[in-house]
Amino acid sequence: MKNLLIGSHVSFQKEKQLLGSVEETLSYGGNCFMIYTGAPQNTARQPINQDLTKQAYQLMKKTNIDPNHVVVHAPYIVNLANGSDFAVNFLKQEVTRLEELGLKYLVLHPGSYVKLTKEEGINNIVKGLNKIITKDQKTFICLEIMAGKGTEIGTSFLELKQIIDKLQYPEKIKICLDTCHLNDAGYDIANFDLIIEEIENVIGENMIACIHINDSKNEQGSHKDRHENLGFGNLGFDNLINIIYHSKLESVPKILETPYVSLNEESKKRLYPPYKFEIKMIKTKQFDPNLLKKIRQYYH
Ligand code: FE
Ligand code: FE
Ligand code: ZN
Repeated sequence: MKNLLIGSHVSFQKEKQLLGSVEETLSYGGNCFMIYTGAPQNTARQPINQDLTKQAYQLMKKTNIDPNHVVVHAPYIVNLANGSDFAVNFLKQEVTRLEELGLKYLVLHPGSYVKLTKEEGINNIVKGLNKIITKDQKTFICLEIMAGKGTEIGTSFLELKQIIDKLQYPEKIKICLDTCHLNDAGYDIANFDLIIEEIENVIGENMIACIHINDSKNEQGSHKDRHENLGFGNLGFDNLINIIYHSKLESVPKILETPYVSLNEESKKRLYPPYKFEIKMIKTKQFDPNLLKKIRQYYH
């Protein structure tokens, strides 16, 4: 592998916007990253500051970060499956924000059907995407494979394909993998070649735009979606390394979404980002059982 693409979820704050996101990525030793254009859990958004964007691009150029390896994640609460205009309008604006930022990939959870039937939910997602996507947009919507928590839609490639097939502009769609979600949805992570084969057969080749790298707190098929630090969950470090270095994923940004580390074993508050240390483990392919301790020492 010539160049490992590895990075993490980083913040996008109003003071420095994309420039801050690049700086945070560099501080972790990453060369790609993922942002929410505001808080992940709400839809309050600031206008994009073009001066900060310009500075971010200068810094990316200097440090060899390719803007095509930067992805944006839509907020969790945006749910196209419920058929609301709110989600459609927010996502239309989000596509505009991506174009202002010069970024191409928008990761989206397909949605949850809640009190509707699954079929109604899927139809709402299709209708919503057809209202959002225009023929000339540069943005790709990347549908994320989901763990199947609650009434989540998109827990198999067949289900994602069902959505894609009904779209007016399917060429604007890519997919986003997530190792925790795949495991929790029931896929066998240890057999990753088989998963790739299924994606190529069902969705097509070169359709993976991004992969989230997370260990899972739960077992295969648990439908829980609780991320864990690399090597500390049910997937295990070796399986994750196999996926990260898989030849079919060479040009795909690998994004860590593992949990922040608490001050001590008892505390429930998550304070310290693990990414600098997890990226080091990935680059050296060496699991560090003292990872959490080292993170606490470094930041405290
Ligand atoms: Fe996600
Ligand atoms: Fe994810
Ligand atoms: Zn998740």
